[in-house]
Amino acid sequence: MTVDVTSSGATRLLRLSNGAVNALSVGNGFVGEIAAALNEALADVECKAIVMTGAGKMFCGGADITDFDGDPRALEALRNLLLAVEDASKPVIMAIHGVALGGGLELTLAGHYRVAQAGARLGVPEVTLGLLPGAGGTQRLPRLIGAGPALDMMLSGKPVAADKAQTLGLVDRLVEGDVVAAALEWAAEVPPTRRTGALPVPADRDEAVAAHRAKLRKGLNPAPAKIIQCVEALSDDLAAGLALEGALFGELMQTEASRGLRHAFFGERTVARIPGLSRDVTPRDIRSVGVIGGGLMGTGITLALLNADLPVIMVELREEALAKAGETIRKTIQRDVDKGRIDQAKADARIAAFTPATSLDALADIDLVIEAVFEDMGVKQQVFTALDAITRPDAILASNTSTLDVDAIAALTKDPSRVVGLHFFSPANIMRLLEVVRGRETAPDVLATAMAFGKRVGKVGVVSGVCDGFIGNRMFEEYLRQTWFMLEEGALPQQIDGALERWGMAMGPCRTMDLAGQDIGWAIRKRRAVEQPDRPYSGVIDRICELGRFGQKTGKGIYAYPDGRTAEPDPEITKLIEDYSAEIALERREISDEEIVGRCLLALINEGARIVGEGIAYRPVDVDMIYLHGYGFGRERGGPMFQGDVIGLPALLERLRTHAQGRNGWAWTPAPLVEELAAKGGNFQDLNS
Ligand code: NAD
Repeated sequence: MTVDVTSSGATRLLRLSNGAVNALSVGNGFVGEIAAALNEALADVECKAIVMTGAGKMFCGGADITDFDGDPRALEALRNLLLAVEDASKPVIMAIHGVALGGGLELTLAGHYRVAQAGARLGVPEVTLGLLPGAGGTQRLPRLIGAGPALDMMLSGKPVAADKAQTLGLVDRLVEGDVVAAALEWAAEVPPTRRTGALPVPADRDEAVAAHRAKLRKGLNPAPAKIIQCVEALSDDLAAGLALEGALFGELMQTEASRGLRHAFFGERTVARIPGLSRDVTPRDIRSVGVIGGGLMGTGITLALLNADLPVIMVELREEALAKAGETIRKTIQRDVDKGRIDQAKADARIAAFTPATSLDALADIDLVIEAVFEDMGVKQQVFTALDAITRPDAILASNTSTLDVDAIAALTKDPSRVVGLHFFSPANIMRLLEVVRGRETAPDVLATAMAFGKRVGKVGVVSGVCDGFIGNRMFEEYLRQTWFMLEEGALPQQIDGALERWGMAMGPCRTMDLAGQDIGWAIRKRRAVEQPDRPYSGVIDRICELGRFGQKTGKGIYAYPDGRTAEPDPEITKLIEDYSAEIALERREISDEEIVGRCLLALINEGARIVGEGIAYRPVDVDMIYLHGYGFGRERGGPMFQGDVIGLPALLERLRTHAQGRNGWAWTPAPLVEELAAKGGNFQDLNS
């Protein structure tokens, strides 16, 4: 952490250096250092102008959010620095390369001029953390570029490229080469000071505020409305606007939504770290991939890899299935051209990187093989025994199995250390989650390679140990168990889905299973009836399956799909459910939305705690990231384990115990980890570091 100060003629150059992103940290004294360097330059009579820039790859990635966690007042130090920059008696020119984001962009706004290098990106992503730009951004950005464009930037959180920034008036000069040299050249002319905060209130303020307020979507993130409120409050009194902005920032910091979003942001980085992995372990290079099976998953996985510009050989035994897979792949890639996402040359290259084959022999020289054949141990056995003989001994062998024992699959090979699970979610080219299943024998570098590979193909990789259903589906089973019980007890599907969707799930469980195919769940329940006769399901859902109503793919499931896509409540199903309750002599009762959300959530948390306690998940946050990226759990809700902390461990335990006294109480035995944390006053977050 340092501010490197050099002189160039009568100009002082302040180069900010703090970690990888030059974070404007208050806690470690960096902001204080910058203020001191600024004051020195201002006091020096020889100095006529000041240039600020960032060391390394970027100008600045932003403030250090953790500074404000406990006490939002820490932001004052940053805000005061920016006021000092703006009020400087000598011109301050910002030389921007790489990125200027969040507090970093706000620092440039406080400067008098901005020079950016072509390719730099400038943005205010605070909204994605449930926050607003709290270091003057809401007051300075609209003054500089107009309220409409400023609201676009602040509400989307998306950065703009330097050339667009110049068009907007956010950047004064754009240079191809050395941005610092260009800024120093300009500084040598000693241009007059120009204070962004003294610019008039933009003429489009009222119009832009009204337009954006009208577009405001109802959601869990409270930040957009507050950002609009700050822009609405723009007046000639900068201090008043800044005071409001500071107060609202403080409020947002405390909200569950912002805490959840920040948990997600940091969680995505945490899950990439494998505890106990030696620094000496380097991931293997993956240059070519083989995918076995050209069904639903094989096709989706292949698309995901081609989209990441990896060459793929797909092996599918049935010619017809292979042709169909190839056709789907070509059409999907071409659609990206039609939608303007990629150009034709890119699409052609991706399609050319796809090689169909009908024999496993095609995989003799491949770096990584992903098996996605039928979910049947006999079929997996054939494939892995053959792969063991055909592939290079250093090739990694992965299975996309959802329920089979990865250790048993690994045991089919001579070297189980090269076997790992790569559990993609459907549609695999879209869903971001990748459960990386660590077998008992999986080598550390194979695990590290699997994680690096996931990142390379744009997925959020989360490690899971071996257990039935791994982390995600094992928890989902308990969630569904409560869903089906509530149907027989008195709720209807549309009520359950509605309550959970309003709470923050992208899709309720009934619609989700209609989409996934009710036959999958039915098969699991049949298996469970044998394996776990003491943990029965409600039979109501089987009745629906017995009608051949497997969901969207059969045109009907729990819901009817008159247009093939849109779920409509079906009176036939309402009757079926009510008849079922009568048949088991259960008097239907009113079930509140609160009970629906509570039971579904508690079921997830309790099973998640069991999974963490057993060491299947490294940390609670790993469970959370699985739910955010694979199951449509609302990002503002942080994830099931985050919600466990919101409830609080003692209250959670209390609620589990209460449920355990009630109907089907056997499903509610508190996880040992919940008991343990509640007893010692701990929480799940403590286990994340
Ligand atoms: P699918 O039935 O759509 O596709 C399987 C394909 O494998 C078929 O086209 C079949 O012809 C082919 N195949 C069978 N034996 C083969 C062999 N020896 N060599 C080459 N090809 C062979 O099944 P799916 O839904 O794509 O599932 C595949 C795997 O992915 C299963 O293990 C499943 O559990 C898992 N999975 C499925 C989902 C899902 O949502 N469907 C999600 C995650 C994981």
